[in-house]
Amino acid sequence: MSVNETNPRRTFAIISHPDAGKTTLTEKLLLYGGAIHLAGSVKARKAQKHAVSDWMEIEKQRGISVTSSVLQFDYQGIRVNILDTPGHQDFSEDTYRTLIAADSAVMIIDVAKGVEEQTKKLFRVCKDRGIPIFTFVNKLDRFGRNPFELMEEIEKVLGIRAYPMNWPVGVDGNYKGVYNRQLNQVELFAKDDSHGQRAVPSTTGNVEDAAFRQLLGEDAHQALCDDIALLDMAGDEFDYDKVARGDLTPMFFGSAMTNFGVRPFLEEFLRLAPPPAPRRSSEEIVSPESDVFSAFVFKIQANMNPAHRDRIAFIRICSGRFERGMNVYHVQSGKQVKLSQPQQFLAQERTLVEEALPGDIIGLFDPGIFAIGDTLCQPGHEIRFEDFPVFPPEQFARVQAKDTMKRKQFVKGMTQLTQEGAVQVFRQPSVVESFVVGVVGSLQFEVLQYRLKQEYGVDILMNSLPYGLARWVAGPGLNPKALKGMDNGMVLEDTRGRPLVLITTEWQLNWVKERNPGVEFYAAPPDN
Ligand code: GDP
Repeated sequence: MSVNETNPRRTFAIISHPDAGKTTLTEKLLLYGGAIHLAGSVKARKAQKHAVSDWMEIEKQRGISVTSSVLQFDYQGIRVNILDTPGHQDFSEDTYRTLIAADSAVMIIDVAKGVEEQTKKLFRVCKDRGIPIFTFVNKLDRFGRNPFELMEEIEKVLGIRAYPMNWPVGVDGNYKGVYNRQLNQVELFAKDDSHGQRAVPSTTGNVEDAAFRQLLGEDAHQALCDDIALLDMAGDEFDYDKVARGDLTPMFFGSAMTNFGVRPFLEEFLRLAPPPAPRRSSEEIVSPESDVFSAFVFKIQANMNPAHRDRIAFIRICSGRFERGMNVYHVQSGKQVKLSQPQQFLAQERTLVEEALPGDIIGLFDPGIFAIGDTLCQPGHEIRFEDFPVFPPEQFARVQAKDTMKRKQFVKGMTQLTQEGAVQVFRQPSVVESFVVGVVGSLQFEVLQYRLKQEYGVDILMNSLPYGLARWVAGPGLNPKALKGMDNGMVLEDTRGRPLVLITTEWQLNWVKERNPGVEFYAAPPDN
């Protein structure tokens, strides 16, 4: 039997716009998963003004988590790894990168607000990876939008079809429960100790049952019958292959706060969510069933303990078995590394890991050799996981050292922090004293400023630039400086000398494109 069958893993991330209920749902999943001592800790971390952790001072000052780690529990024989993506104002490239380590995603949508901005961005990353995306429509205890309307919006705005796994019963703002389309049963909303619901099994398995009519009342029952008939007739068929490819999203309705629909969601999700997927590498497709160890670095967190100035590299295991103290080959440095103090991060707690399997995430002490996207593998079985995606920055600033005498430390700091993936750095070909940095979330600017000061002793001047998008440019005989229509733009080079332009808006981009017909514009470096 393979490692995967004997030790099933489900590794996923929850994506949502701030306030849709990610913290609440995460907690409830932990609660139902039996990790009760952890429920409360997720919210505590969000709300706490003085984090117990000795992580970056910024975290303490603002009571937020700059990192994302993993929450783990066992449920009915499955080890569940929830990748904790930072939300809110701490949105950053780390949020995107975490999605690269996930095998599926749960997208939370606020029933009243529908598809919001941040959800769209995170959805796009998942969609591009082709991983299954599950939808949880939250806050059903409140007034909200019509479920059909939400389905339509998901399709229009995100370009994915939705298959409702359950359907609200009753009237908006006063739902009685949901009808489970797979089991043909009504799950009633109950404010007792049944954790938010009571399942009412149907004897005949048909929504038209008289028993249901009696239970729900004439009007609610009729409305439900009409809705289900419409879904059966006009909606998509449930097609697991489409779900697996990320072309169809199973949609659930519930309320994380009142627990309503959380357990059925968890169980159905775990039934449908994929096990750790094979990953592409330079040599071969790496199967999670393989006995040969491999993993990649998807995130680096520095200064988790300022007393030691340590760095933690988070790795996702792709194949084989990880054991504490094992020697692995670090492909990018060409060196063997002994992994002696692997750690797992459960909310604020750190525990030492003895063993981990494909799908698991662990933190390694990083002696300063790891970078985002690096591969670790078994000595003698060298592979290299494919280039980690670069996420197009959306905010830009020019930075320079306040004190020009500190230029050397400044350049060193900028170089190291870029390697670590804290920000993306560009330079204007003719300008030597300053860099242009690009980020996806403004917190990254603060982190940069803070860390240059703390770790390199450099104060910086930072001026924000009025651009909203970056495009790498390529084309036969391209001379970036001669691009037309760039009066409101800026021409730069990335750290590998590839030319790119900064532009204010999509509209402006189109203007530039029209004036430079032979030039290709890419949202990520073209040879990536
Ligand atoms: P996050 O920013 O996505 O992590 O959202 P939170 O989980 O912190 O929730 C944001 C707010 O919505 C909080 O005040 C929650 O109590 C509330 N909330 C979360 N789930 C529900 C729900 O099912 N119903 C209602 N009425 N409120 C909810």
